[in-house]
Amino acid sequence: MRAVFLSKNMAETVRPPVVTILGHVDHGKTTLLDFIRQTTVAAREVGGITQATSAYQVEHQGKLITFIDTPGHAAFEKMRARGAKLADIAILVVAVDDGVMPQTVEAIKHIKSAGIPMIVALNKVDLPGIDVKVQTEKIKKQLSDKEVLIEEYGGDVPLVPVSAKTGQGVPELLETITLVAEIHELKGDSQKPAEGIIIESRLDKFRGPVATVLVRDGTLKRGDKMAVGEASGKVRGMTDWSGKIVDKAGPSMPVEVLGFEKVPPVGVNLGEVKGAEGNGKAKAVSLIERLKETGSEVLNVVVKADKQGSLEAITTALEKFNEEKQLVKVLSSGTGDITYSDIGLAVASKAIVLGFNVKVVPTAQRLAEVNNVLIRTYNIIYELLDEMEDVVEGILQPGKVEEVFGRAQIIAEFPYGKGEKIAGCKILEGTISKGPKVRLVRDGEVVGEMKIKSLKRLKEEVSKVEKGQECGMIFDTAIEFTPGDIVESFRLL
Ligand code: GDP
Repeated sequence: MRAVFLSKNMAETVRPPVVTILGHVDHGKTTLLDFIRQTTVAAREVGGITQATSAYQVEHQGKLITFIDTPGHAAFEKMRARGAKLADIAILVVAVDDGVMPQTVEAIKHIKSAGIPMIVALNKVDLPGIDVKVQTEKIKKQLSDKEVLIEEYGGDVPLVPVSAKTGQGVPELLETITLVAEIHELKGDSQKPAEGIIIESRLDKFRGPVATVLVRDGTLKRGDKMAVGEASGKVRGMTDWSGKIVDKAGPSMPVEVLGFEKVPPVGVNLGEVKGAEGNGKAKAVSLIERLKETGSEVLNVVVKADKQGSLEAITTALEKFNEEKQLVKVLSSGTGDITYSDIGLAVASKAIVLGFNVKVVPTAQRLAEVNNVLIRTYNIIYELLDEMEDVVEGILQPGKVEEVFGRAQIIAEFPYGKGEKIAGCKILEGTISKGPKVRLVRDGEVVGEMKIKSLKRLKEEVSKVEKGQECGMIFDTAIEFTPGDIVESFRLL
């Protein structure tokens, strides 16, 4: 019986409304925002707080309200144009002395196209010499001409007379906001990964890219991965609007976030927020090594992703590597977790397995371990593609990705037999062995490759020499060397 009541939406709760203020210039938007913030700040903490973000939260009779401090149509329009639903409720500020003005009309248009409920705040009712009653009636008519129907006119738009200067009517305005929010049943689910919008971003000299994120739903936590366009990153630190450090931000909460690698664009949705566990950045080197082991010039891959859309984006991007020559071959692609049969296919075709936003089922993990199949999982598409790019570069340009494991300097030369020379060397770093290819480097440039056919230490033939030792080398080719040249032992990946 209890299970029935524990519905799957148990985590869904009422979330605070997100409110934005619009209206004609000088009608009092900034003053109203300031008044609301200052009065609630005073109630919270003596001494006041400097606002750190362009959004803040206030508490009215135990209920939170989020205000976005971006008066101005440009910002609002930008957000809307980018498809981001920023606010839940709009407050249209109209000065009682001035009435409906051109920017009031513009604001009405924006609010209507955003499809969100509106509250009219009739501001400056404290102004002396104004017949508020007469003006109010006049403005109600002006509004109805613009198809904004006030409650008394049979519409659903509340009108609240206020003074941003004296604070008169402000509690009623806050009360109206919470009522409208209740009617619209704003819900959030704090258990979900966060969805959010970047409402402000900048490059801080000391802290790097800083973004104010309005969490629309879910919870943003420290360590979560974020991606906005080309800007991705991990939440390294968060502060609330008053500058207090927080570990997480739930639905409707604005937070200042550190951790983006680039400054993210304003007005866009914060995408791909993923849990903190994620995998570390994998190394392309081991993939290139694996490829060399298979002796193949084409990297066979099995791709799995959570959604068809991501899968297509990945396979299309991988195909781009094949413009000149086939380098990557997608043997199989599909949605869902990485399974036993995916690994089976990878074993049979010496492929690697790429996963995007998917898990590896335990049986598949075991099979992969036994057969030494490489699995790479990613939460950010760019990371996947970056790594593949490194791999492809390693295939295309052998020598670009390499490992040097020994360096010797030629300190003298001695004639030996017929036209041959012995290079007298001192090993500067690592080890150098007889047999595998080495190269001759002069002034930082490779001047030739050869093998060491004889390696002598104190007249004794040895197979390798180590750092600090001196030795004599005879090369298999008649390469011209001079004292000062470097002999390097290396490995191409
Ligand atoms: P905004 O351009 O809409 O942000 O308008 P402001 O908040 O900057 O206000 C414009 C001017 O109107 C300022 O000089 C304010 O002091 C004044 N003002 C704003 N609200 C009130 C009010 O309720 N009463 C009175 N008397 N003046 C106000």
